[in-house]
Amino acid sequence: RPLVVAVDGGGSRTRLWVLDPEGRLLGRGEAGSSNLTAAGVEVAARAVTEAAERAGLRSAGPGESLEPAGPASPGTTGARGGTGWLDGPVAVVALALAGADREPEAGRMRARVEGLFPGSSVELVHDGVGALLAGTLGGPGLLLLAGTGSLALALGPEGQEVRAGGWGYLLGDEGSGYWIGREAIRAALRAHDGRGPATGLTTVLREAAGLEDVTALVGPVHRGERDRGWIARLARPVVEAADAGDTVAARILDDAAGELALLVRAVLERAAFLAPLETVPVVAAGGLFRLGPSWGRRVAGALAREAPRARLAERVQDPVVGAAYLALRRFHGELPEE
Ligand code: BGC
Repeated sequence: RPLVVAVDGGGSRTRLWVLDPEGRLLGRGEAGSSNLTAAGVEVAARAVTEAAERAGLRSAGPGESLEPAGPASPGTTGARGGTGWLDGPVAVVALALAGADREPEAGRMRARVEGLFPGSSVELVHDGVGALLAGTLGGPGLLLLAGTGSLALALGPEGQEVRAGGWGYLLGDEGSGYWIGREAIRAALRAHDGRGPATGLTTVLREAAGLEDVTALVGPVHRGERDRGWIARLARPVVEAADAGDTVAARILDDAAGELALLVRAVLERAAFLAPLETVPVVAAGGLFRLGPSWGRRVAGALAREAPRARLAERVQDPVVGAAYLALRRFHGELPEE
């Protein structure tokens, strides 16, 4: 029986589903970042391999093809907790990966994935496309993705793509988890120097890093020992500090929400195909939208100011659904509504 593989990968996590052609979930696996530019193609390919193995696809060794095999050879079954390995050729692999809108990484990754799944048809899009489709399943709408990175995106009926942001942690990603975490560290360093107000963020960061002094974070951050995912996860304690009344933390979050609303506004202004809609549903995706009601209110408030036509819809639970949609569509041609 043919299998269909769907992958969603961002700056912190990779999630992979194996489905049958009817869309039933047969296995799933997770691994670390598969951002093609920030983490690189090799790291991304390894993350996909790991996630595939955890989902039940067997690989002969690092960097080798993932062979959906029958009964596992002795000694390997235990790797999946005894649930057995999936059986059948992988017909289609659809991946929605951060950085897949850029060359030469995208071309290299496609070749790596074709090597991992020999004979299967590979579709590679960027993570925004997957997250948007997960929310709209092809219907109208606009995506606001705020995870480790950030971007806004809309897809038109004729395949037009209008996007703002997503330019990576060095040059963009304003309002993202990484951006919030980095701003928090900067604010604490300013306070340390006496260039900025004292802030509870200093304690928050010391506790998060298990360090006596915030300046001790400078080395680990530059060396990548405290990586982008770690910095992005600081967003949660920053929200907690703001909820507890820290004005510096609150200011960072207001600025972040404002930046995200600007992304939405820029897409709304340029996406002519959204013009007929009186209100535009905004699909929210990414880890930042798990940060609770105070963060949600900030984003909704900023949208009301910057992009009044936008209506924040429910958060996309599983962006990998979008990749699954693409994979099944590729397998069947057109897809029935359900
Ligand atoms: C990456 C984009 C990605 C965005 C959202 C950015 O850091 O450069 O490729 O789409 O994050 O994950």
